[in-house]
Amino acid sequence: DKKQTINFGAGPAKLPQSVLLQAQKELIDYNGIGISVLEMSHRSSDFSKIINNTENLLRELLDIPDNYKVMFLQGGGSGQFSAVPLNLIGLKEDRCADYIVTGTWSAKAAKEAEKYGKVNIIHPKLDAYTKIPDSSVWSLNPSASYVYYCCNETVHGVEFNFVPDAKGAILVSDMSSNFLSRPVDVSKFGLIFAGAQKNVGCAGVTVVIVREDLLGKALKECPVVLDYQVQAGNNSLYNTPPCFSIYIMGLVLEWIKNNGGTEAMERLNKQKSGIIYDIINSSNGFYSCPVDPECRSRMNVPFRVGKKEGDEALEKKFLDGASKLGMISLKGHRSVGGIRASLYNAVTVEDAEVLAAYMKEFLKEHH
Ligand code: PMP
Repeated sequence: DKKQTINFGAGPAKLPQSVLLQAQKELIDYNGIGISVLEMSHRSSDFSKIINNTENLLRELLDIPDNYKVMFLQGGGSGQFSAVPLNLIGLKEDRCADYIVTGTWSAKAAKEAEKYGKVNIIHPKLDAYTKIPDSSVWSLNPSASYVYYCCNETVHGVEFNFVPDAKGAILVSDMSSNFLSRPVDVSKFGLIFAGAQKNVGCAGVTVVIVREDLLGKALKECPVVLDYQVQAGNNSLYNTPPCFSIYIMGLVLEWIKNNGGTEAMERLNKQKSGIIYDIINSSNGFYSCPVDPECRSRMNVPFRVGKKEGDEALEKKFLDGASKLGMISLKGHRSVGGIRASLYNAVTVEDAEVLAAYMKEFLKEHH
C-alpha cells in the first residue's frame, strides 16, 4: 500500500486534504449547474457568488476595515513588485520610497521599484540575510511615498514578529509566505499583498488589500491590468481573473474559518516550528540555523546539517532518507543550499512530528 507523502515545499505548497477532496467532488459539475468552475464565465452569477464569497471570508478572517479594497490579481508576488511602485510611488512629488531589505524577495522588490523612482534602503546593507537590522539604525526619508518590507523572507527564513514603525508613513508589506498564518491589524497598513500558493491556495492569484484613499495616483505608464483603481473599480473583473484559483482560495479560507481562524493558525504555526527549532537547538551544532532567534520564521525553517556551513554529502543523505519516508521538497533554495522545511497552515503538527523524529534518528546515526 502507498505510503503517505508529506509535502514540505515552499510554494506551491501543501493544501488541506479536505479542500482537495471538495474540489475533486465539484470539478465536473459545480453545485449541480452542469459545468465546471473551469468552464464558467467570469461574468456569470455563479462566479459572482464564488468571488464574493472568497472576498467576504477574507474580510471576516482578517477583520478588514470597510475603507480597504480587496483585489484578486494575476502576475504573482513578482507582479506586485512592479505594481506597488507603479501605483504608489507617485503619492508624493519626490517619487521616492523607503525599503527594508532582509532577503531575496525584498531585494527584488527594491530593484524593481528603482525603475520608477528613487529607492532608499533605510539601513546599512546586510552581508547575510540572517537578521532584521535594529530599528535604531533605520533612517526613514520623510518625503518617501511609502515604506516597504517583506514580512517573511521565504528563502532565508527571516520573519518580522512585529509591525515596523513607519513613523506615520504608508506601510506596504509583502505577506506572500505568512499570509493568514496569524492575525494582522490591517489598519496599520496602506497595502498588503500575498501570492496564494503558500498559505491560502494555489498559484495564479495574488491578493491585494489596499486603503481606498491611496487609489488613483498611478503613474501614467502603469499597465491597465496592474492599475489598482481600475481593478478595484471593477471588483477584479476588469479582465478575466484567475477564476479557478479564486475558487480554491475560497475553499481554503472556509477551511481556516472552520479550524479556528487566524488565532488557531498562529498557535499551530508556533507549535510546529517550535518542534523543529527545538531539535536544531538541542543538536549540539549537528543541525544549525543561521537566523537570529529573534526573527526565525514560523513558516520556513532553513537549516544546515553536519556543520555550520553544511556538509553537502550529509545533506544529500538527509534528503534521500527523508524522501524514502515520504517527506518531499525539503531541499533549501538553490541560492542558500541546505535544508528548508516549510510549515504553512496546511502542514499539520503530526507532519512536523514525523520530520522531528527523522531528524533525531538521523542525528543519532551520523553524529
Ligand atoms: N514574495 C515572497 C515572500 C515569495 O516567497 C515569493 C515566491 N516564493 C514571491 C514574492 C514571488 O512570488 P511569485 O513567484 O508568485 O511571483
